[in-house]
Amino acid sequence: MAKAAKSAKTAKTAKTAKTAASAETAAPAKTAKRAAEAAKPARPVKAKPESHLGMVRRARKINRELAEVYPYAHPELDFRNSFELLVATVLSAQTTDLRVNQTTPALFAKYPTPEDMAAAVPEELEEIIRPTGFFRAKAKSLMGLSAALRDRFDGQVPGRLEDLVSLPGVGRKTANVVLGNAFGVPGITVDTHFGRLVRRWKWTEQEDPEKVEAEICAIFPKSEWTMLSHRVVFHGRRICHSRKPACGACPIAPLCPAYGEGETDPEKAKKLLKYEMGGYPGQRLAPPPDYPGRPAAPLGTGDE
Ligand code: SF4
Repeated sequence: MAKAAKSAKTAKTAKTAKTAASAETAAPAKTAKRAAEAAKPARPVKAKPESHLGMVRRARKINRELAEVYPYAHPELDFRNSFELLVATVLSAQTTDLRVNQTTPALFAKYPTPEDMAAAVPEELEEIIRPTGFFRAKAKSLMGLSAALRDRFDGQVPGRLEDLVSLPGVGRKTANVVLGNAFGVPGITVDTHFGRLVRRWKWTEQEDPEKVEAEICAIFPKSEWTMLSHRVVFHGRRICHSRKPACGACPIAPLCPAYGEGETDPEKAKKLLKYEMGGYPGQRLAPPPDYPGRPAAPLGTGDE
């Protein structure tokens, strides 16, 4: 027993000595780290835990700021009616809106109505939509949903969520895009940009798009839902990128708990900006008149 106590004491002494030694070695490193921390600009968001009410107020402020930064925010798919928007949204899975916009002019020229698309020769339809990827599955969805529109909805796109999600290849996200932008029904669209940003902003910790949607809907009045979706997606595409957010050029940095996740040097951050923010063409070939950037170029013109 005495022997055991002695060896425990020896071990403790050794451990204390080791801790002291490592603390001594770590001290200069720690000091240097603290100095570097102190040299950094003050963290924009307070470190103390934020109340739910505080988060809601901050979230609404971010939305107001984004409304000023992107007063022209809009869906980035080109469409002239609800059928075109539905088709374009189905095509946008796993590809960029730009690629869809470059593909749909030829598609809608050949198949302007659900009746036309339902009666397409599958191989011909596939060939047109090939640039959007997964073209066989997408062609099947487009022909299926066109036939359903023709047979069950008089050739019209329905304006109810439950009807839209009953169409082949149409999920909740697609349905919300169509409802919000072709029917004026408020809705939040949770795509990859939206989910990433709202988690960075600590509006939610949910990963599942439906849960994200429910939690964000609870923060904002219904009247804001559709435009909020556009603003957040605009911000995600232009400034708050997935791998390299341009924090140093971000107008909402003081409200963002994730400030510093990306480039904080203003000059370097500026170079990361995309689309009209960086002086480049946008995604739409036919953007709304108030869009301050340049339209995208058609497919195959070399200026993509
Ligand atoms: S500060 Fe950085 S992480 Fe936060 S929104 Fe701006 S770009 Fe995104």
